[in-house]
Amino acid sequence: MSGLEVEACTRCDKPAVVHQLYSGIHLCASHLRTSIRKRVSKALREQVKLPKDAIRETGEPKRILVGISGGKDSSVLLEMMVELLGPRRDVEIIAGCVDEGIDGYRAPSLECAERLAERFGVRLEHISYPELGFERMDEVVLRMPMIEQNIPEAKGMMPCSYCGVFRRQGLNALAKRVGADWMALGHNLDDMAQSILMNLQNGDVDRTIRLAPHTWDPIEGLVPRIVPLRWIPEQEIHAHALEAGLEFHHGDCPYAPGAFRQRSRALVATMESQTPGARHGLLHSMERMRELQIAANDGETLSESWAEDGMRQCERCGEVSSREVCQACTMRDWISSNSG
Ligand code: SF4
Ligand SMILES: [Zn+2]
Ligand SMILES: [Zn+2]
Repeated sequence: MSGLEVEACTRCDKPAVVHQLYSGIHLCASHLRTSIRKRVSKALREQVKLPKDAIRETGEPKRILVGISGGKDSSVLLEMMVELLGPRRDVEIIAGCVDEGIDGYRAPSLECAERLAERFGVRLEHISYPELGFERMDEVVLRMPMIEQNIPEAKGMMPCSYCGVFRRQGLNALAKRVGADWMALGHNLDDMAQSILMNLQNGDVDRTIRLAPHTWDPIEGLVPRIVPLRWIPEQEIHAHALEAGLEFHHGDCPYAPGAFRQRSRALVATMESQTPGARHGLLHSMERMRELQIAANDGETLSESWAEDGMRQCERCGEVSSREVCQACTMRDWISSNSG
């Protein structure tokens, strides 16, 4: 076969849209969809234990907040959640998006998110950083040099260090607002592998094994997060989003370059190309570490040992935190006291 010809799907004769190097198979658009659906369905069953009838005692359905950003991952997540759980009357899917306040990037992606929610007939809730008492990210970035000068702890922080903390608060606030029982996020296999690698590079095994999903060991006061796409590689999600005609925003955040995750992204891509299956291996290793940790603690779950380690509620905002004042409230102070 010449290099210009498209390989055929391993399951039928149609042209392939992806080649899974880690499994050796080629998949056409419709077999890719079936395969993604199967993997997401399995992950969902593992992460959310839904009884046959999940209606609450109040007669209301159980609610799942699906965090969407207008990007490809969360668009595929919403599509799959609606396809798999939409027909159930005892489960309600609500989409939520957080507006970080980044000119030229967030507005078009939020429009995509709105159209997507409309296409799937799902209610969409918004929250912005100013509504949470933070500045817009564009303003935070302007204040960062001054914050760095005045606050030793803030040295070397990147925009994403702030944004990640604020977004977590935003999602928790949305989950509370809609009374969600679970929060679904669009992390794909590449994202998971990057997070595991970044945490392990920092020697942070605890943080590694506390990555979502949290449903096997929920933490008091936090809506458990689920990550139904965690076994699906980014490239397959991208190919499926294009084939399925899902509208998504292609742009990159202007503050992403330089972030630790970008280096991790390149590293994971190199590992995967040299050793196909490396991403799956990292995720399996994380699962195994978690089991070993629980076994070493005589079956004590992580949330129990976490509680013993002094997890408490932030005295300002009430969010679960290991410190008296949580990271989000601390950063809020830095920003307001460095307004130039
Ligand atoms: S790349 Fe960083 S700054 Fe930009 S939206 Fe993501 S977390 Fe926020
Ligand atoms: Zn096929
Ligand atoms: Zn707080």
